[in-house]
Amino acid sequence: MDQMDIRERLGVRPIINVSGTMTALGASIVVPEAVAATAAILNQFVEVDDLQRKASRVIARLCDTEAGFVTASCAAAMSICVAAAMTGSDLFAIERLPDAAGLKDEVIIQSGHMVAYGAPVEQSIRLVGGRVVPVGQATATRAYQVKGAISERTAAAMFVVSHHTVQYGMMGLEAFCAAMHERSIPVIVDAASEYDLRRFLKAGADAVCYSSHKFLGGPTGGIVAGRKDFVRAAYLQNRGIGRGMKVGKEGVVGTIAALEAWETRDHAGIRARETAALLHWRDVLSGRPGVTTKIVPDPTDNPLDRLELWLDPDAAHITAWDLADRLASGPRPVIIRDHEIELGYFLMDPCNLHPGEAEVVGVRLAEELDRALASNTVIASPISERGLRKTQALMSWPD
Ligand SMILES: *Cc1c(COP(=O)(O)O)cnc(C)c1O
Repeated sequence: MDQMDIRERLGVRPIINVSGTMTALGASIVVPEAVAATAAILNQFVEVDDLQRKASRVIARLCDTEAGFVTASCAAAMSICVAAAMTGSDLFAIERLPDAAGLKDEVIIQSGHMVAYGAPVEQSIRLVGGRVVPVGQATATRAYQVKGAISERTAAAMFVVSHHTVQYGMMGLEAFCAAMHERSIPVIVDAASEYDLRRFLKAGADAVCYSSHKFLGGPTGGIVAGRKDFVRAAYLQNRGIGRGMKVGKEGVVGTIAALEAWETRDHAGIRARETAALLHWRDVLSGRPGVTTKIVPDPTDNPLDRLELWLDPDAAHITAWDLADRLASGPRPVIIRDHEIELGYFLMDPCNLHPGEAEVVGVRLAEELDRALASNTVIASPISERGLRKTQALMSWPD
């Protein structure tokens, strides 16, 4: 990077993101087309309904559906879609939410989909006055449970596509949509991090919610795409509960630009660069005592591989979580993907690297593993304390 790094001026740490498109780390690298479009609109006026009409056409084309719009985030898109299922296009009901008296307000969701992405999925339902109706058990959903959960008060069903959800025993989207559509219940899909803009609508979803700032490399925003009457009812929520989830003109324009760039992006070239990073890290790690690596595909079929790094603490002299914490310290902090780190491994995600960063990550891995190996004792802090430490740090914010 030749320009001055703004992070230095702000006094925040210049992290290298090997974790993924995480809100807590600044989501993704915004593509140049979206950066330019965002800057170009910021000091201009525009009729926002008309701008959103343009966004609708671009979203409809890319998602091969009828309509769409941009909102503040995928989480906002989910809440707004639930509200739409409750109120339809009734402006009076829209202004009344979250008071749902007299409205259908139940939202069916598989228990194994009730995960957290940084906030609980089901809170996006409760936020607008919806009532969560979990179906099945954490690890299994049967068709009779889904059908049995439908009542006169069912407004919608929500389906979550994410590595966070239970990856077995769940009802698939097609069967889930078929069961709901038998009773004319719309299905809302949370596909925040998914690359495929068409698959879920094709499988029967009435509306799909994406993040602008994840794989698309747009500014912070969310996308609703789907059936026109449903999308319209969702858009109308901007006159009500959606107001606090407002997206600015720059978010709409930036999302349009990111979607258009997605169409012409060199996906194969990006994949090749990501693979080169994974192979480089694997080379750096190969033959090191107590270190095992494996290149693994994305669990929800996104065209993205990651490197799994397992540690045998006795041989490597360090646990996976202590290595992660050490990588995250010092002048070039490297943040890895640690969702299941208590099992003794972490993942390294190559999709948010600037040129040269993969090599820096390789150097940091070697440094910290060499240092651990040279230590006379095994570096093994209790994993439970790691969680407590993180909570304590949060609870003392802003200090
Ligand atoms: C990231 C994520 C969200 C939230 O998306 P935002 O656009 O950041 O609000 C919702 N669901 C899943 C599965 C996610 O991964």
